[in-house]
Amino acid sequence: MLPNSNRARDLATIVHQQTELSGMRETGATLMTGGDGVYVFDEDGKRYLEGMAGMWSASLGFSEKRLAEAAYAQMQDLPYYHTFHSRGHLAAVDLAEKLLAMAPAGRPGNPLSKVLFHCSGSECNDTAIKLAWYVNNLRGRPEKKKIIGRQMGYHGCTIAAASLTGMPGMHREFDLPISDRFLHTSFPHWYRFHEEGESEEDFATRMAEDLETLILAEGPETVAAFFAEPVQGGGGALTPPRTYFEKIQAVLRKYDVLFIADEVICGFGRTGNPWGSDTYAIRPDMVSCGKALSASYQPISALMISEEIHQALLEQSARLGNFSMGFTFAAHPVACAVARRTLEIYEEDRVFEHAAEVSPAFLGALEGLMDHPLVGDVRGVGLIAGVELMADRARRVQFAPEAKVGTRVQERAMANGLLVRASGDRICFTPPLIITPSQVEEMAGLFRRTLDQTLDALT
Ligand code: PLP
Repeated sequence: MLPNSNRARDLATIVHQQTELSGMRETGATLMTGGDGVYVFDEDGKRYLEGMAGMWSASLGFSEKRLAEAAYAQMQDLPYYHTFHSRGHLAAVDLAEKLLAMAPAGRPGNPLSKVLFHCSGSECNDTAIKLAWYVNNLRGRPEKKKIIGRQMGYHGCTIAAASLTGMPGMHREFDLPISDRFLHTSFPHWYRFHEEGESEEDFATRMAEDLETLILAEGPETVAAFFAEPVQGGGGALTPPRTYFEKIQAVLRKYDVLFIADEVICGFGRTGNPWGSDTYAIRPDMVSCGKALSASYQPISALMISEEIHQALLEQSARLGNFSMGFTFAAHPVACAVARRTLEIYEEDRVFEHAAEVSPAFLGALEGLMDHPLVGDVRGVGLIAGVELMADRARRVQFAPEAKVGTRVQERAMANGLLVRASGDRICFTPPLIITPSQVEEMAGLFRRTLDQTLDALT
């Protein structure tokens, strides 16, 4: 690495995220300098097909000028304001109206009626937890505070969101979970964990029974809320087995436990419908969303809450004299303007419909890899998919974790000009929603070449 190179400057100053920091001292970071549609370019001019839309998020790709224009116009009108102390601004109102008009259906008779803006998905999930506690204190249920997530669920990296996250690596040595209020139930990875002859439906029943057993063991009077991503993203793009959410929701209703849908990845057309909750008939009490809310051109996220929860906030605030929380940059006008323009573009360009139309080509191209000796399973919905690498498909034998096969595939793909994400040995794909069928072909071709090279290196 040249001493004054950009890589050296990066290494001298920045602590990277989700990275093996000591190993990176040797290689340095790949620094991106530009984008064009579904492609990004590094500082050497190398082009990459962004098979992950950045962080499952840049839904409109990397060169949408209409969003730059929206940001510039808002910066000239009102570059900053907030929503503290009974003040606000129109960019937030315009966005909130548009977002709530397209919100998923809440529980029957209890629509999602209000929104709290934030800057990240983690913050939305933290707030959802705080609100569940706040509401149960008001209702005279001070014991009903436990929060259930799922193993391998991902909900962010602030203290509460990371506690809720079910990935051991996110807890280890960070002294998390922060308290024993955070619990994790089994995750519905049918391919990996089904027993011989167990159907998806039977497996879903077993998962719902696991949840019920956990709630009963803890005492239903102590359990406040359950969080789930409609499709588990960071866990490896895991689609739920048939009937899973129907059965999970029956358990939650039985024990009066809130359902918080984490739509941070699935929201805004990713699963072929506006929301993952639409795709899987989830009727949530609160919904977190972010990432594609602004096509990731600005940091903004939103927590939508049901009218019942809103009524409880009104009561608590009257009782206590204030609703005592808020973030300086929440509902930032520039972010709101960009997000509103994003939602308009989704409509004008029929982006969700396009995603649904490209989905069969996308899933078909990846399913075509099932003939490859390294591939055990391919699953997906809309424009999210996971490819499970296996040492022995017939006997469902995994690679040893030390072999780091997933990471090797991710790195080789990058060398080939394709950006994908390994979650263990599950390789995830969530390209920008604007991807075309020919780009899908290109993506699958680059990935097959990557798998061939990996197989050669392994044998
Ligand atoms: N929830 C889910 C499902 C996510 O995938 C993520 C991030 O990847 C988050 C929450 C956290 O969002 P953020 O990184 O914006 O805090």
